[in-house]
Amino acid sequence: MTDLSEHTIATLAPELAAGGFRASHSGPLLRSYYRGEEAAGRNGRRFPQALGALLRGHARRRAAAIAARRVAADGTTKLLIRLADARTVESVLMPGDRADRAAGCVSSQVGCAMGCDFCATARAGFERDLSSGEIVEQFLALRDEARAGGRRLQTIVFMGMGEPLLNLGNVCTAVERIVSNDMGGLGCRQVTVSTVGIVPGIRALAASGLGVHLAVSLHAPDDPTRARLLPAGRRFGVREILAAADLYQSSVGRPVSIQYCLLAGVNDSIGQADQLAALLEGRRMHVNLLHYNPTGPGIRGEAYAPSSDGATVAFLARLRLHGIVAHVRRPRGPDIDAACGQLRQRAWTSLDLPA
Ligand code: SF4
Repeated sequence: MTDLSEHTIATLAPELAAGGFRASHSGPLLRSYYRGEEAAGRNGRRFPQALGALLRGHARRRAAAIAARRVAADGTTKLLIRLADARTVESVLMPGDRADRAAGCVSSQVGCAMGCDFCATARAGFERDLSSGEIVEQFLALRDEARAGGRRLQTIVFMGMGEPLLNLGNVCTAVERIVSNDMGGLGCRQVTVSTVGIVPGIRALAASGLGVHLAVSLHAPDDPTRARLLPAGRRFGVREILAAADLYQSSVGRPVSIQYCLLAGVNDSIGQADQLAALLEGRRMHVNLLHYNPTGPGIRGEAYAPSSDGATVAFLARLRLHGIVAHVRRPRGPDIDAACGQLRQRAWTSLDLPA
């Protein structure tokens, strides 16, 4: 039988019927699967023995797929998840500000073709897209992880390995299941899709009608600096990306977030803060300034460093002086290689500990 994570209630029903089960078990079975009842051993008497065994088998496989787990001092937990073809992806659980909440970060591809120079994932290159079920499985693994720590998985961001808008069909299918009341049960406002600025993908996501939150990783206010950091920047200019973000914002009715990772001496000058503010003037977008977790030399051999506290504060103050809504996001789990691709990179070199 196809993995339950690849199914909706409608697609599972005929497969159950073909296997000699009642098609009407499809809804209860998937609901039980998404609630994690099998992991808690609570499904036993609700289904025929074979279906109960199927659910328990899924729970065991999901637990066994976690090839490595690292917990940072701040509670951030990074999972290295082994897929059926033995490839690996990373998912991260971040404790929320409230003690009973957590946020999850999932990957959308194995590796990434975008080649961002400051990113550990980029160095391994692109291997393949994740299926919708493989994305859903990460969501469920993070939900299990949150529950085990007494927290509720409150939000999901597509900010792990890969460019989600280059795997848009599977990402949208996964999001539909994650936000379905019958399955994942999150609201679409609790899901954020992040992109380096794939303009056709932004337009397609707007047209999908999913209504998720969009985050654009800009990282530079001008095309030359951006092209140096993100090769994707050579294809889509800053103004073109912001025009697509405008379209997204007006069609979905939700402010777009601008992600800006501050790199010492590269994109953190006061002049660049002025340029960024000028770009965003009149736009209802807010800026998240991100702390960089160093990942070693980039593809072009350049080693980047995080901006100093002083430069970060000055950049933030300058944006605010221009009336831009901006915040500094605190670093998550720097002691566990929390930048994307780092855990996977270390596992490849056998430096990591098994779960
Ligand atoms: S930062 Fe994101 S888009 Fe860029 S290479 Fe890394 S995973 Fe890909």
